[in-house]
Amino acid sequence: MSAPKLLSANFGSEVSHRLDHYLERGGYDEARRVIAEVEPEQVIDQVKRAKLRGCGGAGFPTGMKWSFIPKGGDKPVYLAVNADEGEPGTFKDKYILTYEPHMLLEGMLICGKAVGCHKAYIYVRGEFDLPIERMEQAVAEAYERGYLGADVMGTGFPFDVVVHRGGGAYICGEETALLESLEGKPGHPRLKPPFPALVGLHGCPTVINNVETLALVPHITRLGADAFLKLGVESQGGTKLYCVSGHVNRPGIFELSPSVTLRALIDDYAGGMRDGAKLKAVIPGGLSAPVLRPDELDTEGSFEGLKQVNSMLGSAGLIVMDESVCMVEAMHTIIQFYAHESCGQCTPCREGTGWMRRIVERILAGHGRAEDTANLDSIARKITGTTICPLGDAAAWPVMGFVEKFRDEFEYFCKNGRSMVSGEKVGA
Ligand code: SF4
Repeated sequence: MSAPKLLSANFGSEVSHRLDHYLERGGYDEARRVIAEVEPEQVIDQVKRAKLRGCGGAGFPTGMKWSFIPKGGDKPVYLAVNADEGEPGTFKDKYILTYEPHMLLEGMLICGKAVGCHKAYIYVRGEFDLPIERMEQAVAEAYERGYLGADVMGTGFPFDVVVHRGGGAYICGEETALLESLEGKPGHPRLKPPFPALVGLHGCPTVINNVETLALVPHITRLGADAFLKLGVESQGGTKLYCVSGHVNRPGIFELSPSVTLRALIDDYAGGMRDGAKLKAVIPGGLSAPVLRPDELDTEGSFEGLKQVNSMLGSAGLIVMDESVCMVEAMHTIIQFYAHESCGQCTPCREGTGWMRRIVERILAGHGRAEDTANLDSIARKITGTTICPLGDAAAWPVMGFVEKFRDEFEYFCKNGRSMVSGEKVGA
């Protein structure tokens, strides 16, 4: 399962964020070569053949996304880098921003060449003080030494980058809300179509890519599409950054082939369960991914692998829970988050998340009703597919998963007025 550390070899380094260190490692060689020598269509074709999938959560094929940008139009093309890493359980992009900011900039330059873009924005989560400081420092260094600006590395290719600090709303990680926020408006997701590839930032064609996705791009052009694909699985090339948190001995980030199973990730890389506790459940792809039971962990940690068990790889943030966790309480934490973060535009999301939160709070207070478990599932099912953006689904899927897989705990709490795990009620 060993895989080269394309992104994470220098995580924790004191110097890897500096331009000189990046140049010593061959940094910007690929951007220089691609900008000077490679046709845009060839770059897009290579990224397609490498089967790079978007690492923000959706897993959309990156090369295909780039190919949707119209060629030869009279409007400018923008690149918006989604660095608004707010999915609970996910903490990989901030490491790239902190330790490999120039790798991200190099990937952005190559993307710029591929889609004909000369202006990019990096939308960074507002709370990320050090990552923002490092990214701004890297951009300043790159301008000073000619790796950004009106004539990138003497190639005649202009490319400008602006680092934009987000306002701290989870919803701004949704691509159209991110665009609204960049335009100075409240982060309210837009109805699609039109898609950002045609009508994006300021009404112009826009590519929106995640940090990890773009940081992998220089490795594709350097290694070649075939070699990059071989690092992954048939449907997904390259390595993947997995974030593992919760009740394990060694929580952290692991860069691995997506052929790794979730069980190996937990047992072999994250050091197994803390204090020898028994595994109860795993949320495999950031908070919105449907929960898995221990008997479902022999699945491959790829976008397609997680689909086989009706969950999703999402942002590859694994939250591992041991048997001390009351699933009713855990669901309360989840639904509180989504009810708080709903932007309020769609009735099913705005009202449904509030209803689900109030029902779970009633159960936790020991006043659950016989029909509450079924009602949670029913409300969640009525939210899915009825909202402007995926936050509605993201709030509904965990509820459906928890109720389906741990129904006995919900029913016990409703019937007995206390947790099956702790024996206590939780709310007032
Ligand atoms: Fe806003 Fe929720 Fe509708 Fe998304 S689904 S637009 S967060 S109300």
